[in-house]
Parts: sequence; structure tokens; C-alpha cells
Amino acid sequence: MKTSTKKAMSNVFVLPPEEVPKKWYNLIADLPEPLPPPMDPKDGPSRLEMLPKIFLHECLNQEYAKERWINIPEPIRELYMQAGRPRPLIRAKRLEAKLKTPARIYYKTEFYSPTGSHKVNTALAQCYYAQKQGLEHLSTETGAGQWGTALAYACSMADIGLTIYWVRAVYQWKQDRRNFMKLYGAKVFASPSKETQAGQELLKKDPNHPGSLGIAVSEGMEHAATRPGTAYSLGSVLNHVMLHQTIIGLETQEQFKLAGDYPDLMCACLGGGSNFGGFTIPFMYDVLTKKKKVKFLAAQSMVAPNLQGEFRYDFGDHAGKTPLLKMYTLGHQVKMAPIKGDGIRYHACGPLLSVMRHAGYIDTIAYPADEKHVFDRAKTFVQTEGFLPAPESAYSVAAAIDEALKCKETGEEKCIAFNISGHGFMDMVGYREILKEIE
Ligand SMILES: *Cc1c(COP(=O)(O)O)cnc(C)c1O
Repeated sequence: MKTSTKKAMSNVFVLPPEEVPKKWYNLIADLPEPLPPPMDPKDGPSRLEMLPKIFLHECLNQEYAKERWINIPEPIRELYMQAGRPRPLIRAKRLEAKLKTPARIYYKTEFYSPTGSHKVNTALAQCYYAQKQGLEHLSTETGAGQWGTALAYACSMADIGLTIYWVRAVYQWKQDRRNFMKLYGAKVFASPSKETQAGQELLKKDPNHPGSLGIAVSEGMEHAATRPGTAYSLGSVLNHVMLHQTIIGLETQEQFKLAGDYPDLMCACLGGGSNFGGFTIPFMYDVLTKKKKVKFLAAQSMVAPNLQGEFRYDFGDHAGKTPLLKMYTLGHQVKMAPIKGDGIRYHACGPLLSVMRHAGYIDTIAYPADEKHVFDRAKTFVQTEGFLPAPESAYSVAAAIDEALKCKETGEEKCIAFNISGHGFMDMVGYREILKEIE
């Protein structure tokens, strides 16, 4: 084995609990193009007027906030610490050696989370605000199930009830995760469901409707709109969710200081954009205001390559009950085949990141629908670094490895950072179906 001539140094960059950031970063303050406002469609009731009735008030304030830095209330910081923040940044030395790449590869470990994903970062914040607002119940949708689990956990910490509408195609095969949500005390329905009008209409047409995230959003919103004391909570897409998630990138910036390094390229998987945004947005601040050069790469599926769609106003849900948001979109009623990385199967990218994409700051790669390449890359990662990524996070792993292999060809000593948004402990069925050899 070759020994390094450099001073021996740890590959793990950790911050003590008291260094959990005290402020979130609000990208709205520094956007290179103005953020297009949400709008009402020409027909039907006003969606904008409905928002204050179903959304958490503090989250709605944050949605349009102009301040660059927003204080994280102390009780939320404490919850973050208890949930294992700050989470380590790790240099993937064994992966680098295996790939024989001159690139330096780092990954952020969002899988060190009570429920297994980065989604707890906004769930804990939203439940704290719900509690402060005196609410008793939240409703929501979930796709892969990570958001539902994260919110079930956070609701449980705040002693608030929760109803979850879960995309049927996924609800059916993830029984353990369903039980996990119920263990926290949440009510869970397969979507489309009989609980809402939106669901009933779709079930009439097809009793085995596989559902979609957009449909589940419609159901969750209708649930909150028709029941008092209940607010609707969203786990991605919206500006306040991106805001809460910047905790990931803010920690990562401090950890890169410890490492004495700085990323040339950052990648993460992207569905609605919350883990991608959370990881990269603080570095976008560096790019926009400090002349830093970082390439941002979103890893997507060919089933839902929303960043390759059109930049236009569209609904966030299937039934068209949300306001219109200007986003990169494939159309809110587009059909998307099921994939194991179901959490990135969404028709549009959140407005903030859509502006950054439009201004030329975000590149994207979409991987084939059979997911073989992506899971093969995840296998390489498991065998070198030891951690099991969630199927969605496997896209991030694949993008990082593919970029590192390009460096091998060009000889570039790039610094590549990627985010692992969650662990795959509850997704072994997915691994088994794609990687037949492990059965
Ligand atoms: C929800 C989820 C995603 C996709 O959602 P984004 O908002 O795009 O981050 C990715 N990875 C995991 C583990 C998730 O739970």
C-alpha cells in the first residue's frame, strides 16, 4: 500500500452540537433574477386567499421573507441537536481509491437521522411553528414515505396529530415504513383515497389508481381545508422548506473550512429540490456574492427530468388546487412511471431553484428509468464506504461517481461534494428488485 506523504488527517469532519447554525440562509435576498410571485389561475376560487387558511402562518411569512438571514428559534436548534446535528461530512477515501480518481470526494451524511432522511430538518421546524400557533393536527402527502415518516416523528415530538396521504404505488410495497409512521401515532391512507373528494373522483375512474405525489398533495390540502384546527404541511418545493434545509449546506461550509478544502462541484438528487437546495444554496450565496466558482449538478430520473421541462407557471398538484408557481415543469398531470427512487418522481422543481436553473447556475443529468446504473453505483459506494443510501440518494451517489470517473480521464483534481439525503434501511426490496445478484 502506498503511504501518503501528507500529514495524517482525519477523513471525518465533525462540528460539536453547540455549533448547529443559529440562522438559516434565505436565497430570495440574493437571487440573480427576481422571484416570480405565485398567481391565481383564471378560473375557480382564489388559491392565494386560501393559503392563510391551510398553511402554517410562520411558514407563509417565511415563504415571502426578504431578509438574508433568518433566526432559528432556540427550541428548534435543540431539536436539531437531539436529532444528531451537525451531521458529519466525510471524505470518501476508500471510494476514491477504488475509482482510482484524482478527484477528492466528500459526502454529507443526512442519513444520520431519526427517521432516515434530511426531511426532519423542515419537519421539526414546521411542527414547532404549528405548536406555537396552537394547532392540534397536520395533514400531508408523502411519496417515497420519507416525508411522512419525518413529519410523523416531528408531530410526535410536538404532541400534534397527523394524517398522511401516501401515493398508493409506494404505500403498497413499503409496509415497514407504513408501520413506522403509525408507530409515531400518524393516520396513514393510500392515495387516491376515499377520504377526500379529489381521491373519490380518481378512484371512480380506476379503483387501483397508482397515485402520484401531485394527487396526494391535492388530498392533503383538501383534508386541511375541510377540517378546523388542521394545517397542511409540505416537505419540499416551497421556499420555506428550502430555507429550513439550508442547515445542511451551512454546516457543510464550516466543515469544508475544517477540511481546508472547497468544492468545485456539488451534486444531489432532485425531486422538488429540498435536499439539493439545502445542500447547495449556502454555496450559491458564495457564488452570487463572493465570486466563488462552484458547479451545481442535479441528479434526476428520466421518468421525471423536471429541470429539462419548461419554465412556466404550473400547479404543484394534480387537481390544480395550489396557486400557480413559476417552475421548471413537465406539466402537473404528466404520467410518470413508478421507480424505486420514488421521492424524486415529481413533475416540477421548486420556484427558488427554478430561478437559479433559469439563470444558468444548475446543470442536470437524468438517469435511465430501469435504475440499474444508479443502483450499481450505490453498490460500489456501499462496498467502499459502508453506508446504504436511500434509492433517491443513490442518484446523488451515481452522479458523484460518474463525475469522479470523468476526472480520471481528464486528470482533473476536482473537489466533488455530494449529499446523501437518506439511508436505505427500509428500501431493501428496491435494492433486491434492481440488483438481482443480492437475492
Ligand atoms: C424526499 C426525498 C428526496 C427528494 O426530495 P427533494 O425535495 O428533492 O430533496 C430525496 N431523498 C430522500 C431521502 C428523500 O426523502
